[in-house]
Amino acid sequence: MPATSDLGHGIHAIDTGFIRPLFDASHLVLEDGQAAFVDVGTTFSVPGLLAALDGLGVPREAVTYVIVTHVHLDHAGGAGEMMRLLPQAKLVVHPHGAPHMIDPTRLWAGASAVYGEDAMRRNYGKLVPVDPARVIEAPEGFRLELGSRPLLFLDTPGHARHHFCVWDETSRSMFTGDTFGLAYPQLASSRGAFIMPTTTPVQFEPEALVASIDRLLGFRPRAMLLTHYSEVTEVERLAADLRRQIGEFVTLGRAADGQPDRAARLRSGVRELVHGWIRDHGTPLTTEAVDALVSLDVELNAQGLEVWLDRDRRGRRSFYKTKRPG
Ligand SMILES: [Zn+2]
Repeated sequence: MPATSDLGHGIHAIDTGFIRPLFDASHLVLEDGQAAFVDVGTTFSVPGLLAALDGLGVPREAVTYVIVTHVHLDHAGGAGEMMRLLPQAKLVVHPHGAPHMIDPTRLWAGASAVYGEDAMRRNYGKLVPVDPARVIEAPEGFRLELGSRPLLFLDTPGHARHHFCVWDETSRSMFTGDTFGLAYPQLASSRGAFIMPTTTPVQFEPEALVASIDRLLGFRPRAMLLTHYSEVTEVERLAADLRRQIGEFVTLGRAADGQPDRAARLRSGVRELVHGWIRDHGTPLTTEAVDALVSLDVELNAQGLEVWLDRDRRGRRSFYKTKRPG
């Protein structure tokens, strides 16, 4: 039985068990005898999520929606298996992500390129394709009712182009996936939650990410519900932290770009920045303990910055090509 916490307003956070405790959350929303999951971890998370459902006394037939904020595998890897075991559910996914849920071949290959094939099998298990008849594509402005409870879908690129956030008017909270960064509870201090952006490969776009964060703030949310990990309040302060940190990542990336040891510079630079932010936040942990919590993100963020720099450079080249007078 996984750890769950009741966040009030009919929302429960369930630990998917991916990587370590308090790393990867699924949220369950209950309204009028209906239920929706928002993000579902990996295929290995599914038995725990269903056990949590049973523990709350919610029948499987009551689950009408499985919502994935984007198709990265720590959010959507378990979606196919969930759909197989939840007969009434429809899968709600961004239009750019839907083809990858219906045929996960390319998703698997793309993630294998980042993580390696062995780690993929060990960490994510098998991806189960979803019947296209059970897929609902949610573009910008899409509205859904869970019973009488309205959910509004916002296209929020920046972390990934197949990412939406979900506004829950009832609780005045936003399901942010990875758009509003990561806030591991172990990194909190007397100053409150510690937050940091995630620039995972392959679609990090700094300007779009800042614009998406600003857009979320426009709803004046009471709380953000992050996949990594769950509820944060103090939304304005955390947004300001994220904007500043994204700026620092961009500055680091620009300085490292064009250097022969760019990859090493980015890795050590990201690590230095992240550790510095955590230290400045007053988190009472040793460097080793902090490393154990963030080393994976340091690695992925450095890789994502590289992909962004390469894409940016190609973009600049083609821009100048098209602008060059005949
Ligand atoms: Zn992600």
